[in-house]
Amino acid sequence: MLKIGIIGGGPAGYALAIKMAQKGCSVVLFEKEKLGGTCLNKGCIPTKAILHSSNLIYKTKALSTFGIDINTDNFDFSKLIERKDTIVSKLNKSLGMLLNSYNIEIINEEVISFDKEQIITQNTKTACDIIILATGTVPAQIKGIEADNQFIYNSDGILTLEKLPKSILIIGSGAIGIEWSRIFADLGVEVTLIEAAERILPIADIDVSSRLERLLKKKRVKIEKATVVEKIECNEVKLSNGKALNPEKVLVAIGRTPILPNTELEFKTNKGFLDVDKNFMTNIPNIYAIGDINGISMLAHSATHQAIELAEYLTQNKQPHFTQKDIPSVIYGTPEAAWFGATEQMLIESNLQFKKVLFPISTIGKAHAEDEIDGFIKILTNEEKILGVSIVAPEASSILMQFLVAKENNLSYKSILNAVYPHPTFSEAAFEAILALDNESLSLPKIKE
Ligand SMILES: Cc1cc2nc3c(=O)[nH]c(=O)nc-3n(C[C@H](O)[C@H](O)[C@H](O)COP(=O)(O)OP(=O)(O)OC[C@H]3O[C@@H](n4cnc5c(N)ncnc54)[C@H](O)[C@@H]3O)c2cc1C
Repeated sequence: MLKIGIIGGGPAGYALAIKMAQKGCSVVLFEKEKLGGTCLNKGCIPTKAILHSSNLIYKTKALSTFGIDINTDNFDFSKLIERKDTIVSKLNKSLGMLLNSYNIEIINEEVISFDKEQIITQNTKTACDIIILATGTVPAQIKGIEADNQFIYNSDGILTLEKLPKSILIIGSGAIGIEWSRIFADLGVEVTLIEAAERILPIADIDVSSRLERLLKKKRVKIEKATVVEKIECNEVKLSNGKALNPEKVLVAIGRTPILPNTELEFKTNKGFLDVDKNFMTNIPNIYAIGDINGISMLAHSATHQAIELAEYLTQNKQPHFTQKDIPSVIYGTPEAAWFGATEQMLIESNLQFKKVLFPISTIGKAHAEDEIDGFIKILTNEEKILGVSIVAPEASSILMQFLVAKENNLSYKSILNAVYPHPTFSEAAFEAILALDNESLSLPKIKE
């Protein structure tokens, strides 16, 4: 029986462990901290649990529009954190039971070294036929602005905050920076968001960036673009644009750094991330790397999908086809932002012919019924092929998926029109946006010739 050693019990490692066990392999999973990795313990789940609470406060404040007045001033931050901890520990226990049900051996220790045939911890030495590295990443640091969990925090430390600060400066406007800006702003904290690029969320389509900027400003988040923190001295933050700020706390959210256990093997890396071939194999035969550690796409769903594809490759010789190209990205909160594929700037830069529509969700009845009219669906196509879709709307992450399923199955964007959409829903906006691509929308006025 093939013996698989997996280092790292995050979404990449535990998903692979389950898949390989389902295929009849003997699996040993090494995890130095808690099962579930960054996603369950320090990332997706705890932040979304907190974001859900802050979002409820935001929505409760907006209830006066619906004729309901509720005072939100007396919310208890410690209860909000307690709820997050309960959710994480419940999911953590369930994951342990899930892995046990497949007879996966779990060694809850740090791997201190490994070579091509064995994995070593303080108390164990395990011989393996195949080794998988799924060790993930840790928060990246800025030299001189290291987290001390007193004044300066990273995305791990901020989860341990016991009391809300009066003000916070957030460095970095990626998904983490924007979600925490939304959380703190809705909880009444003064937020300043610093971004080195010319626009916030620079990886997204320009329309997503500008709409999110507008939405954040509506929450009174102050945004400093094309700006970096030059230094922090005696809790004073000096910015490259000459301003000096005195926030109560600082959150550094500038990305993630890969971590690899000690080894004498010489791995090929790219900025610290492990280089892998199309089958996720590193330059060392029989050692594979999936999830954040290979740097292809730093998202939990990418980690899980890579695990599924690697398991099918190792047990059925099915060729993986994972590319970073069509991975959906989501910014959570109200409204969500979600996208996949090409952005308009990418298409302009690569001189590709394309057709586009930016369909406002304010044309949809449900948006008015729920007072959520600020958003759009942007579709980029070439002939009948979908090149990319970006959405800012309630349920954006769910609406996005019909476009992605059509694209992954090489279907024309028009194939989406074969389905009858229920009314009133936000999903109708997808149907209408496609009609609008060909100037056939039933909700937009006739374009003057
Ligand atoms: C604040 C935040 C919010 C996020 N939100 C989202 C989101 O909404 N959606 C999304 O898709 N992604 C999100 N992510 C990203 C997501 O968490 C990661 O992409 C995902 O966890 C990567 O999975 P992984 O298995 O590759 O690595 P990880 O989840 O990092 O797991 C790696 C595991 O390996 C263990 N390990 C490392 N070294 C050793 C060793 N020597 N011995 C034993 N064990 C070891 C670690 O303890 C860890 O448990 C978020 C991340 C952060 C920080």
